[in-house]
Amino acid sequence: MENILTKTILVTGGAGFIGSAVTRRLVTETPHRVVVVDALTYAGNLDSLASVAREERFAFERADICDAEAMRALLAQYKPDVIMHLAAESHVDRSIDGPGAFIQTNVMGTFTLLQAALGYWRQLSPEQREVFHFQHISTDEVFGSLGEDGCFHEDYPYQPTSPYSASKAASDHLVRAWQHTYGLPTLVTNCSNNYGPYHFPEKLIPLVILNALEGAPLPVYGTGENVRDWLYVDDHAAALILVAEQGVPGETYAIGGHNERRNVDVVRAICGLVDEMAPDARIGPREGLITFVTDRPGHDARYAIDASKIERELGWRPAETFETGLEKTVRWYLDNRSWWERVRSGVYRGERLGVATENGKRLT
Ligand code: NAD
Repeated sequence: MENILTKTILVTGGAGFIGSAVTRRLVTETPHRVVVVDALTYAGNLDSLASVAREERFAFERADICDAEAMRALLAQYKPDVIMHLAAESHVDRSIDGPGAFIQTNVMGTFTLLQAALGYWRQLSPEQREVFHFQHISTDEVFGSLGEDGCFHEDYPYQPTSPYSASKAASDHLVRAWQHTYGLPTLVTNCSNNYGPYHFPEKLIPLVILNALEGAPLPVYGTGENVRDWLYVDDHAAALILVAEQGVPGETYAIGGHNERRNVDVVRAICGLVDEMAPDARIGPREGLITFVTDRPGHDARYAIDASKIERELGWRPAETFETGLEKTVRWYLDNRSWWERVRSGVYRGERLGVATENGKRLT
Protein backbone atom coordinates (compact mmCIF):
# COMPACT_ATOMS: atom_id res chain seq x y z
CA MET A 1 0.00 0.00 0.00
CA GLU A 2 1.22 3.47 -0.81
CA ASN A 3 2.63 5.42 2.10
CA ILE A 4 0.15 8.23 2.91
CA LEU A 5 3.06 10.61 3.27
CA THR A 6 4.19 9.92 -0.28
CA LYS A 7 4.18 13.11 -2.29
CA THR A 8 4.64 14.08 -5.89
CA ILE A 9 7.45 16.60 -6.02
CA LEU A 10 8.12 18.66 -9.12
CA VAL A 11 11.76 19.80 -9.20
CA THR A 12 12.61 22.64 -11.60
CA GLY A 13 16.29 22.75 -12.53
CA GLY A 14 16.63 19.09 -11.54
CA ALA A 15 19.33 18.45 -14.17
CA GLY A 16 21.62 21.04 -12.60
CA PHE A 17 24.17 20.69 -9.83
CA ILE A 18 21.95 21.01 -6.72
CA GLY A 19 18.70 19.93 -8.41
CA SER A 20 20.24 16.64 -9.53
CA ALA A 21 21.55 15.99 -5.98
CA VAL A 22 18.04 16.64 -4.62
CA THR A 23 16.52 14.38 -7.28
CA ARG A 24 18.95 11.50 -6.75
CA ARG A 25 18.34 11.68 -3.02
CA LEU A 26 14.54 11.91 -3.37
CA VAL A 27 14.47 8.84 -5.60
CA THR A 28 16.90 6.72 -3.61
CA GLU A 29 16.06 7.73 -0.04
CA THR A 30 12.39 8.75 0.06
CA PRO A 31 9.12 7.23 -1.19
CA HIS A 32 8.20 10.37 -3.16
CA ARG A 33 7.53 10.57 -6.90
CA VAL A 34 9.80 13.06 -8.66
CA VAL A 35 9.19 15.02 -11.85
CA VAL A 36 12.18 16.99 -13.09
CA VAL A 37 11.35 19.99 -15.28
CA ASP A 38 14.47 21.42 -16.88
CA ALA A 39 15.25 23.35 -20.08
CA LEU A 40 18.72 21.72 -20.29
CA THR A 41 20.67 24.93 -20.74
CA TYR A 42 24.49 24.70 -20.82
CA ALA A 43 24.32 23.95 -17.06
CA GLY A 44 21.75 21.15 -17.26
CA ASN A 45 23.01 17.66 -17.85
CA LEU A 46 21.00 14.44 -18.05
CA ASP A 47 24.18 12.47 -17.27
CA SER A 48 23.77 13.74 -13.70
CA LEU A 49 20.44 11.89 -13.47
CA ALA A 50 21.56 8.67 -15.17
CA SER A 51 21.58 6.70 -11.90
CA VAL A 52 17.83 7.29 -11.37
CA ALA A 53 16.62 7.68 -14.95
CA ARG A 54 15.05 4.21 -15.13
CA GLU A 55 13.25 4.37 -11.79
CA GLU A 56 9.45 4.23 -11.96
CA ARG A 57 9.03 7.09 -9.51
CA PHE A 58 11.11 9.40 -11.73
CA ALA A 59 9.98 11.41 -14.77
CA PHE A 60 11.80 14.01 -16.83
CA GLU A 61 10.22 16.83 -18.84
CA ARG A 62 12.27 19.20 -20.94
CA ALA A 63 10.59 22.60 -20.64
CA ASP A 64 11.42 26.26 -20.01
CA ILE A 65 9.97 27.82 -16.85
CA CYS A 66 9.34 30.98 -18.90
CA ASP A 67 6.82 29.02 -21.02
CA ALA A 68 3.52 29.68 -19.22
CA GLU A 69 1.50 27.20 -21.26
CA ALA A 70 4.03 24.40 -20.72
CA MET A 71 4.10 25.08 -16.96
CA ARG A 72 0.29 25.01 -16.73
CA ALA A 73 0.13 21.76 -18.71
CA LEU A 74 2.83 20.04 -16.61
CA LEU A 75 1.16 20.99 -13.32
CA ALA A 76 -2.18 19.70 -14.64
CA GLN A 77 -0.55 16.48 -15.84
CA TYR A 78 1.55 15.60 -12.78
CA LYS A 79 -0.52 17.24 -9.99
CA PRO A 80 2.42 17.89 -7.65
CA ASP A 81 2.05 18.33 -3.89
CA VAL A 82 5.28 20.31 -3.76
CA ILE A 83 7.15 22.42 -6.30
CA MET A 84 10.86 22.70 -5.50
CA HIS A 85 12.03 25.58 -7.65
CA LEU A 86 15.76 25.45 -8.43
CA ALA A 87 15.83 26.35 -12.14
CA ALA A 88 17.96 29.45 -12.53
CA GLU A 89 20.91 31.03 -14.20
CA SER A 90 23.40 30.57 -11.37
CA HIS A 91 26.90 31.80 -12.23
CA VAL A 92 27.86 35.28 -10.98
CA ASP A 93 30.54 35.80 -13.65
CA ARG A 94 28.07 35.03 -16.42
CA SER A 95 25.63 37.52 -14.87
CA ILE A 96 28.30 40.21 -15.18
CA ASP A 97 28.96 39.38 -18.82
CA GLY A 98 25.31 38.92 -19.80
CA PRO A 99 22.67 39.86 -17.23
CA GLY A 100 19.69 39.51 -19.60
CA ALA A 101 19.38 35.73 -19.25
CA PHE A 102 19.36 36.13 -15.44
CA ILE A 103 16.46 38.59 -15.53
CA GLN A 104 14.62 36.37 -17.98
CA THR A 105 14.95 33.05 -16.14
CA ASN A 106 15.33 34.10 -12.50
CA VAL A 107 12.77 36.91 -12.48
CA MET A 108 10.39 36.30 -15.39
CA GLY A 109 10.68 32.51 -15.11
CA THR A 110 9.88 32.58 -11.39
CA PHE A 111 6.96 34.92 -12.06
CA THR A 112 5.64 32.61 -14.78
CA LEU A 113 5.96 29.55 -12.56
CA LEU A 114 4.25 31.34 -9.65
CA GLN A 115 1.32 32.29 -11.86
CA ALA A 116 0.99 28.70 -13.10
CA ALA A 117 1.27 27.40 -9.52
CA LEU A 118 -1.38 29.84 -8.31
CA GLY A 119 -3.84 28.80 -11.02
CA TYR A 120 -3.16 25.15 -10.23
CA TRP A 121 -3.43 25.65 -6.44
CA ARG A 122 -6.75 27.50 -6.73
CA GLN A 123 -8.48 24.54 -8.34
CA LEU A 124 -7.23 21.98 -5.79
CA SER A 125 -9.58 20.53 -3.18
CA PRO A 126 -9.31 22.08 0.32
CA GLU A 127 -7.41 18.97 1.52
CA GLN A 128 -4.93 19.16 -1.37
CA ARG A 129 -4.46 22.88 -0.80
CA GLU A 130 -3.47 22.14 2.78
CA VAL A 131 -0.62 19.91 1.58
CA PHE A 132 0.62 21.96 -1.38
CA HIS A 133 3.51 24.36 -1.18
CA PHE A 134 5.92 26.16 -3.47
CA GLN A 135 9.51 25.92 -2.19
CA HIS A 136 11.85 28.52 -3.60
CA ILE A 137 15.57 27.71 -3.45
CA SER A 138 17.67 30.84 -3.10
CA THR A 139 21.09 32.02 -2.09
CA ASP A 140 22.75 33.92 0.75
CA GLU A 141 24.11 36.30 -1.89
CA VAL A 142 20.80 38.25 -1.73
CA PHE A 143 22.02 39.69 1.60
CA GLY A 144 25.09 41.35 0.09
CA SER A 145 28.46 41.28 1.79
CA LEU A 146 29.44 40.89 5.46
CA GLY A 147 32.24 42.63 7.33
CA GLU A 148 34.65 40.64 9.45
CA ASP A 149 31.99 39.62 12.00
CA GLY A 150 28.41 38.46 12.03
CA CYS A 151 26.31 36.07 9.98
CA PHE A 152 23.37 36.20 7.62
CA HIS A 153 20.11 34.90 9.07
CA GLU A 154 16.44 34.71 8.08
CA ASP A 155 15.68 38.35 9.00
CA TYR A 156 18.85 39.86 7.55
CA PRO A 157 18.10 42.85 5.26
CA TYR A 158 18.46 42.34 1.50
CA GLN A 159 21.30 44.16 -0.23
CA PRO A 160 22.22 42.23 -3.39
CA THR A 161 25.23 43.52 -5.30
CA SER A 162 25.63 41.48 -8.52
CA PRO A 163 23.16 41.00 -11.39
CA TYR A 164 22.86 37.36 -10.25
CA SER A 165 22.09 38.15 -6.61
CA ALA A 166 19.76 41.01 -7.60
CA SER A 167 17.79 38.66 -9.86
CA LYS A 168 17.56 36.06 -7.07
CA ALA A 169 16.50 38.76 -4.58
CA ALA A 170 13.76 39.82 -6.99
CA SER A 171 12.55 36.23 -7.25
CA ASP A 172 12.53 35.85 -3.42
CA HIS A 173 10.38 38.98 -3.15
CA LEU A 174 7.97 37.70 -5.82
CA VAL A 175 7.58 34.36 -4.04
CA ARG A 176 6.77 36.02 -0.69
CA ALA A 177 4.41 38.49 -2.39
CA TRP A 178 2.44 35.62 -3.97
CA GLN A 179 1.89 34.19 -0.48
CA HIS A 180 1.06 37.54 1.11
CA THR A 181 -1.24 38.74 -1.68
CA TYR A 182 -2.83 35.57 -3.05
CA GLY A 183 -2.36 33.09 -0.21
CA LEU A 184 -0.19 30.68 -2.23
CA PRO A 185 1.71 28.63 0.39
CA THR A 186 5.40 29.31 -0.18
CA LEU A 187 8.72 28.70 1.58
CA VAL A 188 12.10 30.26 0.87
CA THR A 189 15.52 28.79 1.65
CA ASN A 190 18.72 30.84 1.41
CA CYS A 191 21.86 28.73 1.25
CA SER A 192 25.57 29.42 1.20
CA ASN A 193 28.04 28.24 -1.48
CA ASN A 194 27.69 24.57 -2.40
CA TYR A 195 30.38 22.21 -3.66
CA GLY A 196 30.51 18.51 -4.45
CA PRO A 197 30.06 15.96 -7.25
CA TYR A 198 28.45 16.93 -10.60
CA HIS A 199 29.42 20.60 -10.17
CA PHE A 200 29.77 22.35 -13.53
CA PRO A 201 33.48 23.07 -14.04
CA GLU A 202 33.17 26.84 -14.36
CA LYS A 203 32.71 27.21 -10.58
CA LEU A 204 35.76 27.67 -8.34
CA ILE A 205 36.14 24.23 -6.73
CA PRO A 206 35.65 21.95 -9.79
CA LEU A 207 37.59 24.39 -11.98
CA VAL A 208 40.56 24.26 -9.61
CA ILE A 209 40.39 20.45 -9.27
CA LEU A 210 40.43 19.92 -13.04
CA ASN A 211 43.08 22.54 -13.74
CA ALA A 212 45.25 21.10 -10.94
CA LEU A 213 44.92 17.63 -12.46
CA GLU A 214 45.98 18.95 -15.85
CA GLY A 215 48.74 21.25 -14.59
CA ALA A 216 46.93 24.40 -15.83
CA PRO A 217 46.96 27.76 -14.00
CA LEU A 218 44.68 28.00 -10.95
CA PRO A 219 43.02 31.43 -11.19
CA VAL A 220 42.29 33.14 -7.86
CA TYR A 221 40.53 36.49 -7.78
CA GLY A 222 42.40 39.47 -6.30
CA THR A 223 44.43 38.35 -3.31
CA GLY A 224 42.15 35.39 -2.53
CA GLU A 225 40.94 36.92 0.74
CA ASN A 226 37.21 36.65 -0.05
CA VAL A 227 35.47 34.35 2.41
CA ARG A 228 32.67 31.90 1.54
CA ASP A 229 30.76 29.52 3.84
CA TRP A 230 30.97 26.15 2.05
CA LEU A 231 28.33 23.42 2.22
CA TYR A 232 28.60 19.94 0.72
CA VAL A 233 25.82 19.61 -1.86
CA ASP A 234 24.29 16.43 -0.37
CA ASP A 235 23.91 18.24 2.96
CA HIS A 236 22.02 21.00 1.15
CA ALA A 237 19.86 18.39 -0.64
CA ALA A 238 19.01 16.76 2.70
CA ALA A 239 18.04 20.15 4.15
CA LEU A 240 15.82 20.95 1.16
CA ILE A 241 14.01 17.61 1.43
CA LEU A 242 13.48 18.16 5.15
CA VAL A 243 11.97 21.55 4.35
CA ALA A 244 9.76 19.98 1.64
CA GLU A 245 8.49 17.42 4.15
CA GLN A 246 8.31 19.42 7.38
CA GLY A 247 8.83 23.11 6.61
CA VAL A 248 6.12 25.59 7.57
CA PRO A 249 4.68 27.67 4.69
CA GLY A 250 5.45 31.35 5.07
CA GLU A 251 8.78 30.57 6.73
CA THR A 252 12.33 31.17 5.52
CA TYR A 253 15.21 28.83 6.37
CA ALA A 254 18.87 29.89 6.15
CA ILE A 255 21.15 26.93 5.34
CA GLY A 256 24.92 26.83 5.73
CA GLY A 257 27.74 24.58 6.77
CA HIS A 258 29.70 26.60 9.37
CA ASN A 259 32.67 26.29 7.04
CA GLU A 260 34.05 29.73 6.40
CA ARG A 261 37.17 29.64 4.26
CA ARG A 262 39.21 32.21 2.33
CA ASN A 263 39.25 31.41 -1.40
CA VAL A 264 43.03 31.07 -1.41
CA ASP A 265 42.86 28.52 1.41
CA VAL A 266 40.23 26.51 -0.49
CA VAL A 267 42.53 26.44 -3.52
CA ARG A 268 45.53 25.42 -1.39
CA ALA A 269 43.50 22.62 0.24
CA ILE A 270 42.54 21.30 -3.21
CA CYS A 271 46.19 21.46 -4.31
CA GLY A 272 47.17 19.32 -1.32
CA LEU A 273 44.48 16.71 -2.04
CA VAL A 274 45.25 16.50 -5.76
CA ASP A 275 49.00 16.19 -5.02
CA GLU A 276 48.20 13.33 -2.64
CA MET A 277 45.61 11.47 -4.77
CA ALA A 278 47.06 12.12 -8.24
CA PRO A 279 50.77 12.91 -7.91
CA ASP A 280 52.40 13.97 -11.17
CA ALA A 281 56.14 14.59 -11.22
CA ARG A 282 55.89 16.65 -14.44
CA ILE A 283 53.51 19.10 -12.75
CA GLY A 284 55.09 19.14 -9.26
CA PRO A 285 53.33 20.66 -6.22
CA ARG A 286 50.08 22.21 -7.50
CA GLU A 287 50.35 25.30 -5.28
CA GLY A 288 52.90 26.52 -7.81
CA LEU A 289 50.05 26.81 -10.34
CA ILE A 290 48.13 29.43 -8.31
CA THR A 291 47.75 32.59 -10.39
CA PHE A 292 46.18 35.71 -8.90
CA VAL A 293 43.93 37.41 -11.48
CA THR A 294 42.11 40.75 -11.62
CA ASP A 295 39.33 40.73 -9.06
CA ARG A 296 35.69 40.21 -10.07
CA PRO A 297 33.95 43.62 -10.30
CA GLY A 298 32.01 44.28 -7.09
CA HIS A 299 33.28 41.06 -5.49
CA ASP A 300 31.51 40.53 -2.12
CA ALA A 301 34.06 40.19 0.73
CA ARG A 302 32.47 37.66 3.04
CA TYR A 303 29.41 35.40 3.34
CA ALA A 304 28.52 33.34 6.41
CA ILE A 305 25.26 31.75 7.50
CA ASP A 306 23.66 31.31 10.90
CA ALA A 307 21.76 28.05 10.30
CA SER A 308 20.48 27.69 13.87
CA LYS A 309 16.78 27.97 12.90
CA ILE A 310 16.71 24.94 10.58
CA GLU A 311 18.88 23.04 13.08
CA ARG A 312 16.56 23.86 15.97
CA GLU A 313 13.19 23.57 14.22
CA LEU A 314 13.77 20.76 11.73
CA GLY A 315 16.72 18.96 13.31
CA TRP A 316 19.00 19.40 10.27
CA ARG A 317 22.78 19.07 10.68
CA PRO A 318 25.38 18.88 7.93
CA ALA A 319 27.00 15.44 7.79
CA GLU A 320 30.25 16.64 6.21
CA THR A 321 32.95 18.97 7.46
CA PHE A 322 34.77 20.97 4.80
CA GLU A 323 37.70 18.54 4.99
CA THR A 324 35.63 15.35 4.52
CA GLY A 325 33.42 16.95 1.85
CA LEU A 326 36.36 18.30 -0.12
CA GLU A 327 38.13 14.95 -0.04
CA LYS A 328 34.99 13.21 -1.34
CA THR A 329 34.67 15.83 -4.06
CA VAL A 330 38.24 15.52 -5.32
CA ARG A 331 37.89 11.72 -5.26
CA TRP A 332 34.65 11.96 -7.28
CA TYR A 333 36.28 14.06 -10.01
CA LEU A 334 39.17 11.60 -10.20
CA ASP A 335 36.75 8.65 -10.46
CA ASN A 336 34.27 10.26 -12.86
CA ARG A 337 36.44 11.57 -15.64
CA SER A 338 33.85 10.60 -18.29
CA TRP A 339 31.23 12.94 -16.71
CA TRP A 340 33.41 16.04 -16.81
CA GLU A 341 35.10 15.20 -20.08
CA ARG A 342 31.66 15.02 -21.73
CA VAL A 343 30.62 18.28 -20.06
CA ARG A 344 33.80 19.96 -21.23
CA SER A 345 33.83 18.64 -24.77
CA GLY A 346 30.11 18.53 -25.54
CA VAL A 347 27.58 21.27 -25.00
CA TYR A 348 30.12 23.14 -22.95
CA ARG A 349 32.44 25.15 -25.18
CA GLY A 350 34.96 26.50 -22.67
CA GLU A 351 33.39 29.92 -22.41
CA ARG A 352 34.39 32.19 -19.55
CA LEU A 353 35.58 29.89 -16.77
CA GLY A 354 35.44 31.99 -13.68
CA VAL A 355 37.57 34.95 -14.62
CA ALA A 356 40.17 32.72 -16.16
CA THR A 357 41.54 35.61 -18.21
CA GLU A 358 44.17 38.18 -17.43
CA ASN A 359 44.67 41.25 -19.67
CA GLY A 360 42.37 39.62 -22.19
CA LYS A 361 44.47 36.45 -22.26
CA ARG A 362 42.79 33.16 -21.36
CA LEU A 363 44.46 31.31 -18.52
CA THR A 364 42.51 28.04 -18.78
P1 NAD B 1 22.96 25.05 -12.03
O1 NAD B 1 23.32 26.20 -12.92
O2 NAD B 1 23.91 23.93 -11.86
O3 NAD B 1 21.57 24.41 -12.52
C1 NAD B 1 20.50 25.19 -12.98
C2 NAD B 1 19.53 24.26 -13.73
O4 NAD B 1 18.41 25.04 -14.15
C3 NAD B 1 20.14 23.63 -14.99
O5 NAD B 1 19.83 22.25 -15.04
C4 NAD B 1 19.48 24.39 -16.13
O6 NAD B 1 19.33 23.59 -17.30
C5 NAD B 1 18.13 24.74 -15.51
N1 NAD B 1 17.53 25.93 -16.12
C6 NAD B 1 18.13 27.13 -16.34
N2 NAD B 1 17.25 27.97 -16.94
C7 NAD B 1 16.08 27.30 -17.06
C8 NAD B 1 14.80 27.64 -17.57
N3 NAD B 1 14.55 28.85 -18.11
N4 NAD B 1 13.81 26.71 -17.53
C9 NAD B 1 14.05 25.47 -17.00
N5 NAD B 1 15.25 25.10 -16.52
C10 NAD B 1 16.25 26.00 -16.54
O7 NAD B 1 22.58 25.72 -10.63
P2 NAD B 1 22.77 25.15 -9.15
O8 NAD B 1 24.11 25.53 -8.66
O9 NAD B 1 22.35 23.74 -9.12
O10 NAD B 1 21.71 26.05 -8.37
C11 NAD B 1 20.34 25.65 -8.27
C12 NAD B 1 19.56 26.70 -7.51
O11 NAD B 1 20.10 26.86 -6.21
C13 NAD B 1 19.59 28.08 -8.16
O12 NAD B 1 18.32 28.66 -8.02
C14 NAD B 1 20.63 28.85 -7.36
O13 NAD B 1 20.34 30.22 -7.35
C15 NAD B 1 20.43 28.22 -5.99
N6 NAD B 1 21.64 28.22 -5.13
C16 NAD B 1 22.85 27.78 -5.60
C17 NAD B 1 23.96 27.75 -4.75
C18 NAD B 1 25.30 27.23 -5.23
O14 NAD B 1 26.29 27.32 -4.49
N7 NAD B 1 25.40 26.63 -6.40
C19 NAD B 1 23.85 28.18 -3.43
C20 NAD B 1 22.59 28.62 -2.97
C21 NAD B 1 21.50 28.63 -3.84
